[in-house]
Amino acid sequence: MRKQIAAANWKMNLTLEQADALVTEISNHNRKLGENHVVVFAVPFPYLIWVSEKTSNMNQFHVAAQNCYTKKSGAYTGEVSAEMLNSIGIKWVVLGHSERREYFGETNQMLSEKLNLALEYHLTPIFCCGEPLPIREAGTQNQYVEQQLRESLFGLSAEQIQKIVIAYEPIWAIGTGKTATSAQAQEMHAHLRKILASKFGDKIADGISILYGGSVKASNAKEIFSQPDVDGGLVGGASLIATEFNTIIDSLK
Ligand code: PEP
Repeated sequence: MRKQIAAANWKMNLTLEQADALVTEISNHNRKLGENHVVVFAVPFPYLIWVSEKTSNMNQFHVAAQNCYTKKSGAYTGEVSAEMLNSIGIKWVVLGHSERREYFGETNQMLSEKLNLALEYHLTPIFCCGEPLPIREAGTQNQYVEQQLRESLFGLSAEQIQKIVIAYEPIWAIGTGKTATSAQAQEMHAHLRKILASKFGDKIADGISILYGGSVKASNAKEIFSQPDVDGGLVGGASLIATEFNTIIDSLK
């Protein structure tokens, strides 16, 4: 059974005080998570240990870093390594978010290096892919994401690929209020699974959780998550509002 995941991407938001109020309200919400349900908080580096401690009694809650570097260690001022994350007990990392690709020049090749290091240090990567608007308008989104997967994921072994989670995030839907329709999401998720199957086989592709990201909110989560190949969501803006994120968690199938 694939894991169904509600992942919050806080990006560069929230003071410690605001983060405290948010996590408190989400943790205190009266819910019964299914056995295959997972909640992940991708938080800024300074809050990693603190959110981990705060959620340590909720065993289906996990904390993720929003990035790590392509190198093991060394003279890379300002960067954080996979080994450091592992050493403070972090088990998840978001890699290849479109904001990292766009503002920090991350390439498919760099992401392949980051994925290898993340896996070496026992982190579960949430690997983001997705097309910009002009590609969607040209109708070449399938080829675009296929290239992202080929260049970043096809070097992984069968054992490694089963340890990653994929997030499909059409860039035109991130932070824009424009959501892909559930049919568009399903179509792309099925396509991603087909690409994975072509390289790693049907059985492995069937076991990989693929999240949708792009203006998921309380009002549309249930419909999007109900699609057969959608295994939850990576959520930006709405994850900063406790009532919104609580409903999103409760919408996991
Ligand atoms: C994201 O940051 O990954 C994201 C999907 O943002 P939003 O939900 O705000 O569109």
